[in-house]
Amino acid sequence: MPTPQKKRGRPKEERRRAGARKRTSTPIAGKEFNYVLQLNDADTRLLQRYQAVLVQGAAGFAEISYNYLFDNPDIADVMYAFERDGGNVGELVRAMLGHKLELLNGRIDEQATRRSEYIGRAHYRRGVKPVWTLGAYRLFLDYVQRLVASDPQIDDADRDAVETALIKLIFRDLAVMTEAYWRAAVDQLTDQRDTLDAEQLLASEILGNIPQLLWTVDIENNSISYASPGARAFCQRELEAPIPCFYRIHGSERERVLTAWQQVIDNESVQLEVLMQPCESDEREDRWFRIAFYPMANRRGRVLRVHCLMEDVSDLHSDRERLEQLSTQDEITGLANRALWYDRLGSALAVARRNPGAAVAVLVLDINQFKMYNDSLGNQAGDELLRQIARRLQKLLRDTDTLARLGSDEFGIILPFLQDAERAVERVAGEVIGALSAPFSYQQRELCLSSAIGIAVYPQHGEDAHTLASHADSAMYRAKWNAAPYLFYESDAQQSSASEHLQFSGQLHGALERDEFELHYQPKIDIASGEIRGAEALLRWRHPQQGLILPKRFIPVAEQLGMIAPITDWVLHTALTQSKLWSLDGKPMPVSVNVSARSFQAPGLVGRIRQALARAGVEGTNLEIEITEGSLMTDLEAGARTLDQLSKLGVSIAIDDFGTGYSSLSYLKRLPIDTLKIDRSFLEDMLINPRDAAVVRSIIELGHNLECQVVAEGVEEEAIRQMLLELGCDLLQGFHISKPLPNEGFGEWLSLTAH
Ligand code: C2E
Ligand code: MG
Ligand code: MG
Repeated sequence: MPTPQKKRGRPKEERRRAGARKRTSTPIAGKEFNYVLQLNDADTRLLQRYQAVLVQGAAGFAEISYNYLFDNPDIADVMYAFERDGGNVGELVRAMLGHKLELLNGRIDEQATRRSEYIGRAHYRRGVKPVWTLGAYRLFLDYVQRLVASDPQIDDADRDAVETALIKLIFRDLAVMTEAYWRAAVDQLTDQRDTLDAEQLLASEILGNIPQLLWTVDIENNSISYASPGARAFCQRELEAPIPCFYRIHGSERERVLTAWQQVIDNESVQLEVLMQPCESDEREDRWFRIAFYPMANRRGRVLRVHCLMEDVSDLHSDRERLEQLSTQDEITGLANRALWYDRLGSALAVARRNPGAAVAVLVLDINQFKMYNDSLGNQAGDELLRQIARRLQKLLRDTDTLARLGSDEFGIILPFLQDAERAVERVAGEVIGALSAPFSYQQRELCLSSAIGIAVYPQHGEDAHTLASHADSAMYRAKWNAAPYLFYESDAQQSSASEHLQFSGQLHGALERDEFELHYQPKIDIASGEIRGAEALLRWRHPQQGLILPKRFIPVAEQLGMIAPITDWVLHTALTQSKLWSLDGKPMPVSVNVSARSFQAPGLVGRIRQALARAGVEGTNLEIEITEGSLMTDLEAGARTLDQLSKLGVSIAIDDFGTGYSSLSYLKRLPIDTLKIDRSFLEDMLINPRDAAVVRSIIELGHNLECQVVAEGVEEEAIRQMLLELGCDLLQGFHISKPLPNEGFGEWLSLTAH
């Protein structure tokens, strides 16, 4: 009967620690094999009787064996490798034959079993496949069968019994070897698992005891694929991708984390420090954490995973703050430093609180190209640039205003004692932009730069210094994203959700390749005749989980990720191809494409539009580009050049959302603009609000004086259409005529209105 294998009784933990220690299995029990093959003493005796005859006859098998090894190229490769390692194939063949001849004496004891097991394990180590061994034994069996059938020294009466005994023996040897193969593989895997277990145990001991929190984000699925025990404990239930405990980060700090996350998605490692709120159960104060993101990209630079590390640096922070407070001046520019700026802000707020109606404005200004110049020209150039910026800004301000350098390329301005705050701040912001727009110089080089300004005003955007400063900061980050020269603070509810932004940032990558974008078309009609004059292409994202998403939610993210250029190219190509199809269908119609501020400012736009026209086989006159006033304002000179080149291609230009931006008449006059689109917000209330009606009337007059046609967008009611007709507006676009429609819907609409 087979004997059951002895169970190993070492505790699991101990085995883990033992790691990769060599394992010694119990040897294969030969008795089991004898039992199932019914190999008995009679067989052994018979074989012993003919042993001399068989051994002598089988000696000739050596040559067959040798040929077998080298006739099969796969086996031959293993043999060559064996020889390269210093082995001798001749000796090996002799040893194998020796083993086979040993079998012929019918010995079936444990020593014979161990020898077979040893050979099986050695074969496994050398990469000899079991099937090759099977082939060798088949040849051997064939050989001895012929010997037994024909050798005159064997009694005829014994031939069948000798053959049967030999078959049993060969089966036995094959089976022992195969089991040895299997055991060797199991032992190897078990050793590897033990090594891994030991390493894993060690890693989790380390990770469980270090103060840093670690997690890994899988970008494609927007999920956390690993979180260290510390991270799990710290974030409790809020282990949400991609940044656990994101909602514990202070509102004003979130923008910075979002910006950092975009950089990571662009394959840059980033470190930053943020202030986090304690969790509900914890009584402690807010703490400073350093967060580091390390992106792991594939060969094409697409980030697949991000390893994240977070640690509490509050103690370091308070030391640094104490040191900073000791001085009040910024060393490089001589301006007030952050500490003094806060101090002044506190005093200005104290005065304002005693004077009802008084306002204080806080501006935070960040220089867009500073890092580039500092990195490429060196720190000295960077310092000189900061001094020149400081001098220009200082000249604009009153004595009572405070200008400070808050950190690397960030400046802060406090405007106290304001009455009509919004107007005053807009004026100062405009002057700052103007002052920085002239080139700077460093060692005979001209350096051009632009800035992003965020504004928060007491009392409407915050009551205390910290809130106002951080709200101005967050407005500044938003201005940066949107390539706007300046923006006022908007509360979280007014902005698109921060977590959505984070989530989209991973998923937008690859949306183009996955064909998730589509265009809807909205007709523009002649207000007097009702004839169709064109269609505006409006982008939608068919999100795999969330369905159709409107552009306001994802275009800012795409812009921030630097992905807007390929999207704009796709929109141009798709809209122009559609325009071509309409004209082949006998309904020629220009198509309008929206170009965001980022795309408009990016170099090469004109070349890409020219290419898109050529690719679709469409004339420039069939394309209109819609841009906003903000796009032009950031860099007027470059903007004017782009517009000139576009109008040379025959492409017309429309200013979208007209009336909401910062246009000046002088630039409108100079630029080749064909159309003004009155923003929907003026049309909504024009029936009841005479001021809105006056704005609409003056935009129409202004447009006509500039020889532009005027489009009213977002018209929802007949009464408004009637009024616009009376005011002499040219074209109309809005739900009153048609909602934006997908391709097929638009085709149907066209054929319905044609009849
Ligand atoms: P927009 O260019 O001013 O487009 C007009 C927006 O008003 C569209 O919103 C349209 O659906 C909506 N609209 C039209 N008629 C009415 C109406 O009667 N009532 C109301 N309530 N709304 C109306 P949509 O499609 O959500 O697009 C929003 C903005 O996203 C666009 O404003 C444009 O600035 C931007 N956008 C759209 N497609 C693209 C694109 O391909 N590239 C870029 N960069 N921006 C795009
Ligand atoms: Mg538009
Ligand atoms: Mg618009």
